[in-house]
Amino acid sequence: MRVVVTGGAGFVGSHLCEKLLALGNSVVCVDNLSTGRVENLRSIEKDAAFEFRKQDVSQHIAINGPVDAVAHLASPASPPDYLRLQIQTLKAGALGTHNALGLAKAKDARFLLASTSEVYGDPLVNPQPESYWGNVNPVGPRSVYDEAKRFAEAMTLAYHHSHRIDVRIARIFNTYGPRMRPEDGRVVSNFIVQALRGNPLTVYGDGSQTRSFCYVSDLVEGLARLLLTKASGENGAKAVSPDGVHAPVNLGNPVETQVSAIARTIIRLTGSSSKITSLPLPIDDPKVRCPAIRRAQELLGWNPAVNLEKGLSLTIGYFSQQS
Ligand code: NAD
Ligand code: UDP
Repeated sequence: MRVVVTGGAGFVGSHLCEKLLALGNSVVCVDNLSTGRVENLRSIEKDAAFEFRKQDVSQHIAINGPVDAVAHLASPASPPDYLRLQIQTLKAGALGTHNALGLAKAKDARFLLASTSEVYGDPLVNPQPESYWGNVNPVGPRSVYDEAKRFAEAMTLAYHHSHRIDVRIARIFNTYGPRMRPEDGRVVSNFIVQALRGNPLTVYGDGSQTRSFCYVSDLVEGLARLLLTKASGENGAKAVSPDGVHAPVNLGNPVETQVSAIARTIIRLTGSSSKITSLPLPIDDPKVRCPAIRRAQELLGWNPAVNLEKGLSLTIGYFSQQS
């Protein structure tokens, strides 16, 4: 397949480009480098099957030649990034999704949306199944991201229903691993960089809030399976809803961990002498988050394989080499 990956120079996108190339596909990466980096593409930039286009997906996306699939990942994703790039985030989710769907329609290509667990907001149901409608503050600071992704999901399904585009929606839960930026602002990269520098680890609030952390190779395996699975549920995969793969699919590791426990684990794994310090909890910071992954298990035969200690050790190794 020839796959267009928007946001392909970012943390997740670069691993997805690598994976798709390794599976024998060709890849066109479209990215405006707002939060991504060309060095994330170093392992694949010389591959004849890989092409990079610096472009903002909020503008019309023109690609010559056939396209078999569009994977739309372009969007700021870290809370500090989307709070700094509020209008760009709304535009990437709204105009960017519209343009990426327009490209899929013009090329008769399959479409994958990288959505997020943030569509569940500060959830009142834990773990969150795909059937849960969520608890989002539409005017809170996180709404620029949450509502953009909720709009993107609605737009994706509208293209499916109105234009019969073959679509898939991945609701991605907290993912970590190599190629996160040291200044990305998300919890795992913050804590590892702080621990390696001997600085205090900044736990927001009392650290009792939970997240469920998925190592990037597991996530990308799930994304590739979701993208490459036939709509009919072939390859032994069962369609889990009347609409088959068109229903949203949670992708995340269901092992739920308190933020304070992550800080302690990272201090132990790095052998750091850093202490833990408390900073104010950001407004609307979700108190719990954990994916129910039965749909991904049944539809894709997917399960995360990398446990937290292993994934953190690999990520610590990556950040140690950066400094
Ligand atoms: P990232 O910031 O590393 O990557 C996003 C990429 O999109 C960057 O390369 C950036 O330059 C690019 N981009 C942003 N706006 C763009 C625009 N208008 N035009 C073109 N390119 C643009 O973030 P990530 O963690 O790799 O996230 C990738 C996708 O996965 C995002 O859609 C995000 O919402 C989703 N997601 C990620 C996580 C996670 O934990 N990493 C969780 C849920 C959802
Ligand atoms: N967090 C923290 N210290 C940090 C960064 C984040 O305690 O330096 C907390 C944050 O308040 C949230 C959790 O860690 O409760 C995960 O934050 P992140 O920004 O990684 O992702 P989120 O799930 O909030 O989008």
